[in-house]
Amino acid sequence: MIIGNFVEFGGCNMWRDDDDRLDNILNFIVHKRISQYPLICPICSTQELNFYMHRYKEHVHKGAIWIWCSNCKYFSHFSLVVPDWWENSNWIALEDLTALPINLESKREQISKHIKNTIGNN
Ligand SMILES: [Zn+2]
Repeated sequence: MIIGNFVEFGGCNMWRDDDDRLDNILNFIVHKRISQYPLICPICSTQELNFYMHRYKEHVHKGAIWIWCSNCKYFSHFSLVVPDWWENSNWIALEDLTALPINLESKREQISKHIKNTIGNN
């Protein structure tokens, strides 16, 4: 499913992406095995692990995912084949989607609502 990894560091040292445990969460997300949201962070064990996926164009599957913890600031960012169940939000602009999840973190309450609605729609 993962078609490439383009994690890159910005100039900000606050966010870190050097822990594989976040990548292991990806499988649960893609297969919609999400029993609670936010998720439990495998690094700091708080329930503050967020994610957001984005399909680059409608009706295509190519997109990206960001997984990040609001507490310990570990994150992971991949390109991937976005699963069918995912719906983009219409209030995330393409310019919000930088490698570091800074803009997503500031919208995490909205993202949480979006994900809970989306998960409930099956
Ligand atoms: Zn954490």
